[in-house]
Amino acid sequence: MTTDRVRPSGPRRLLSRLRAVMAAPGDVQARLDQIAKMIAANLVAEVCTIYLMRAGRVLELFATEGLRDEAKHKTRLEVGHGLVGHIAAHARPLILSDAQKHPEFTYVRETGEEDFRSFLGVPILRAGHVIGVVSVRNRALKNYHEEEVETLQTIAMVLAELVGSGDLIPHVELHDLGGNATLAPHIEGVSIGSGLAIGAAVIHEAPVVIRKFVADNPDEERERLRVALGSLHQSLDEIIADSDFVPGDEHLDILEAYRMFAHDRGWLSRIEEAIDTGLTAEAAVQREQEEIRARMAQVTDAYLRERFLDVIDLGNRLLNFLSGRAVLGSDEETPEDIVVIARSLGLTDMFHYPRGRLRGIVTEEGSPTSHLAIIANSLDLPFVGQAKGILTSVDPGDMVIVDGNNGVVYVEPGEDVVQAFDERLEMEAQRQQIVSEVRGKPSVSRDGINIKLLMNAGLPNEHEDIESVGADGIGLYRTEFAFMRYSEMPSVDIQTALYRGVLDKARDLPVNFRVLDVGSDKKVGPLKISREDNPAIGWRSLRILLDRPVVLRQQLRAMLRAAAGKTLYLLFPMVADVAELDAARALLDLEVTHARAKRFVLPEDIKIGSMFEVPALAWQLPALLSRVDFLAVGSNDLMQFMFASDRGNPKLVNRYDVLSPAFLSFINSLVGRCEEHGVELSVCGAAAGATTDAMALIGAGVRNLSMTAASIGPVKTMVRSLSVGPLSEYLSTLYELPDHSLRDRLNEYAVDHDIFL
Ligand code: PEP
Ligand code: MG
Repeated sequence: MTTDRVRPSGPRRLLSRLRAVMAAPGDVQARLDQIAKMIAANLVAEVCTIYLMRAGRVLELFATEGLRDEAKHKTRLEVGHGLVGHIAAHARPLILSDAQKHPEFTYVRETGEEDFRSFLGVPILRAGHVIGVVSVRNRALKNYHEEEVETLQTIAMVLAELVGSGDLIPHVELHDLGGNATLAPHIEGVSIGSGLAIGAAVIHEAPVVIRKFVADNPDEERERLRVALGSLHQSLDEIIADSDFVPGDEHLDILEAYRMFAHDRGWLSRIEEAIDTGLTAEAAVQREQEEIRARMAQVTDAYLRERFLDVIDLGNRLLNFLSGRAVLGSDEETPEDIVVIARSLGLTDMFHYPRGRLRGIVTEEGSPTSHLAIIANSLDLPFVGQAKGILTSVDPGDMVIVDGNNGVVYVEPGEDVVQAFDERLEMEAQRQQIVSEVRGKPSVSRDGINIKLLMNAGLPNEHEDIESVGADGIGLYRTEFAFMRYSEMPSVDIQTALYRGVLDKARDLPVNFRVLDVGSDKKVGPLKISREDNPAIGWRSLRILLDRPVVLRQQLRAMLRAAAGKTLYLLFPMVADVAELDAARALLDLEVTHARAKRFVLPEDIKIGSMFEVPALAWQLPALLSRVDFLAVGSNDLMQFMFASDRGNPKLVNRYDVLSPAFLSFINSLVGRCEEHGVELSVCGAAAGATTDAMALIGAGVRNLSMTAASIGPVKTMVRSLSVGPLSEYLSTLYELPDHSLRDRLNEYAVDHDIFL
């Protein structure tokens, strides 16, 4: 049986009454309650509920008419669960004459909603995101009609305004909601450079299309090549002269290396030889480009691929000069704020856009580890890569918002998105301010627990940040990065100088030197490592070092010399078996004996550490923990081996979570075992530097976290707002849950307990 259709009273009248309520002075909760009452009356419904989205993507009951008042602010639903959660997940209205037959229907007992059959709910949307759900219900079976849906949608818009005021939910939470963006066209990519930018789209020119391949006169082609090369060299000189990078700066090194490639005789003579075969200068450059691409396809090593990309980029630039195409640059018509959109961008291309106007970069390709990314980061440019389809979605001059934090690009956003974006910029500035205020303050929780914040280093000069960021030491020094710069294995002397430089900079703070962690995907020097199908679980790391003991012994020799008179902290990577650690230890003993015989000053003390990346170690703990002084959990590798999930496969990113009950409960038990043996445990994978993850790890008992220098401020801010005891207690109730991830619950916990994430 269905009841007759009821027309809502004039929407315009309702709107003006709603606005009057909103504008009225007084408590915002009381106004929301009044609105729930008005909605129920207007739609002749027995129940109205207003759920709002909280951080952690949970819907909280904020107001109700017809259900139990005590449930307000207590009842919480996950997105995707129940009818309200279903609306939030799909960002669409839901109209049901018999709600109980819907597969998502669930009772929320504490609200007393058992008896209701018909249901109408719509999302509350703001800037394209679901920020809540408003719904009405009736006991009888009833068909809600189009006008009623529209009325409720209009009400939802008004509610969005009220929520957006920030009086009900703090602004910071609103901005972190994420979720279903439905209004503005947006493209999702990956975050390469963080930050937010807005500007007019400038489409980066595609490489030159060559029309003439066969030369009329090879001498003329040689001359054309000479002139174009002159312009190329000059343009690179200008870029370097105009950059703000100073000698010794790693970014200047990158540009200098790039300029060196442009003078590379091998590269030039191959192009000249191609001209001698009768090709035009353009076709000759193109042929060389193709050869480089073909060679690049054989290489899996990320570092080498980057070098090849640099040379391809140079070739493209040379083609531009050969074709006489104007170099990109500023002109009168260039807008004040520009966002460069490109399929891919060469290292120096970005310098051809006026520095004061370039606000952000979006590319269809691009990887976070590219040189372009490193330079863009040093210039603080928000950068979204792998934004598939961006070139076909944007016209020159379109307004584009680059959200480098979330890897999202908005094209021609509406007023509401721009406004939300402006607010976010302001929030971001406030956040930065709060983070910068903790510099120099101790990393101690509210309940007095000391959390050591260490940094990861290894890139040139990276360790130099140690003082400025106030790290408690270097929890992970990846030595392989330095080796990658040499075509030969660096000598013991070169290595000694390198390690000594790091120790000098760290003064008396500890530095955990990790011996080479290389494999067929991370090659160094002349070590012959052939391609493997599964490099992550192949011949790598300590396995190689034990098979090539000279390499390990030279590294240990250099470390012993560098740490003369100090404490040497030695870290062995990818230990899978305690016997491997013993074998490495035996080589260390040989080197100590050797150093003594040669009368070198030895370190005052040597602390032995093992990375914990291979799950097999969990079953060797008594033997392992009796042999080491410290354990560094490499959460990146441990996750990939625990969940059998390739850490570099973009399809698996975020598929499994460090904040799963499995991972966190394991860490918790490992912490306990380490305490029993007096072994210090740290976590040094990416999780240690992400605020929610770091909070969870602390809750699980971790007291030492090692992260990139940039994460130290935000993590310290989080630590200083956290009470560890209650969090640990809460977490201990979650370890056995069957949940895929505890992330939402932990984010929610942080909001409820004023923890600054
Ligand atoms: C890890 O595996 O988490 C780790 C820190 O080592 P890397 O990232 O160098 O493999
Ligand atoms: Mg690792």
